[in-house]
Amino acid sequence: MYKNVFLKKGKEESLKRFHPWIFSGAIHHIDGEPEEGDVVRVVSAEGKFLAVGHWQIGSIAVRVLSFSDIEINAAFWEERVRVAYNMRCAIGVAGTEQNNTYRLIHGEGDCLPGLVVDVYGKTAVMQAHSVGMHVDRMAIADALLSQTQGAVEHVYYKSETTLPFKANLGQENGFIRGGSADNIAVENGLKFHIDWLKGQKTGFFVDQRDNRSLLEHYAQGRALLNMFCYTGGFSVYAMRGGARLVHSVDSSAKAVDLVNKNIELNFPGDPRHQAFAEDAFKYLDAMGDQYDLIILDPPAFAKHKDSLKQALKGYTRLNAKAFEKIQPGGILFTFSCSQVVSKDNFRTAVFSAAAQSGRRVRILHQLHQPADHPINIYHPEGEYLKGLVLYVE
Ligand code: SAH
Repeated sequence: MYKNVFLKKGKEESLKRFHPWIFSGAIHHIDGEPEEGDVVRVVSAEGKFLAVGHWQIGSIAVRVLSFSDIEINAAFWEERVRVAYNMRCAIGVAGTEQNNTYRLIHGEGDCLPGLVVDVYGKTAVMQAHSVGMHVDRMAIADALLSQTQGAVEHVYYKSETTLPFKANLGQENGFIRGGSADNIAVENGLKFHIDWLKGQKTGFFVDQRDNRSLLEHYAQGRALLNMFCYTGGFSVYAMRGGARLVHSVDSSAKAVDLVNKNIELNFPGDPRHQAFAEDAFKYLDAMGDQYDLIILDPPAFAKHKDSLKQALKGYTRLNAKAFEKIQPGGILFTFSCSQVVSKDNFRTAVFSAAAQSGRRVRILHQLHQPADHPINIYHPEGEYLKGLVLYVE
């Protein structure tokens, strides 16, 4: 029997609107002492059932798994994975020859707060961001194998850096089902080496797939700078799109190795591409005005609300440098993946940068995360990636 978590009077409002988090401040008392990662029942002050979810010590105390009074068992995980997989088939990213790289589970967006699963070929890379998902990892891995119609054969678990340090779970990265050294994934017909062992996140930024396709469409004949290139996703698409020159820049030497490998995999010996391990601000200061297509896809500048102001200044400073140097008639793809930076915040930061440069700037596209990173309508915090495509006169 799950332990009951009693909320304070009136604190059930957000749950009635299906918001999946319960903050510790909303809790009145608990029957017994649940272990971190246990499933608990959340009830109102009057004892009325509200939700079941994973218990954790911290500001978010319960992450809701269901608003029905059910048992969280193998059938539960199977159903959630099946629904998520069917959705990826429906939107055309799973089960095709052209593309075997996609996000299968996107946390709250798939009603599984604390769980991220990206698929690369036959391997699912799974990350737990909550203790509960760590505790249930084996049942989830089984569901990934049984509910994806043969799409997933191996499950690599990679939660060393995503779980709360204090929980002291002694987790390790490694295969928990199957095992495969084949780490080449296909995204829209292009091949990528995925380094799920040491790479950032699950090894690749799956969330830029649609935006990379749009970039490809604009690349013909252009001289491109892909700043913060990481594995070089945008660069590889630009090469296929017929760019005249592609320069990839990242401060990490490891990233530069990866981008070179990925270019070699798709366009062996093609002299149009070069990669540089350099700091973005230094490179932008020192570079000339040769580029007429620039991508700025930096890491999150703000991880918490307190750093929002600083982050916005950072986005303005970065974008101002691109506006200053981009060729007349140039196109700028600029992004923010900070969840605490809203679409309006970001647009204002880029607006300030444009104004500093005095250039005439038009918005061509407003970009966001793709359909395999869905936003749960009851959890607007799930919206994080935003971008602008700008035409600079
Ligand atoms: N555009 C990439 C994802 C970018 S992730 C893609 O499509 O896959 C952000 C990258 O910025 C990381 O690879 C990180 O190494 C790099 N980075 C962080 N700080 C940097 C800096 N000051 N200058 C250059 N690169 C930086």
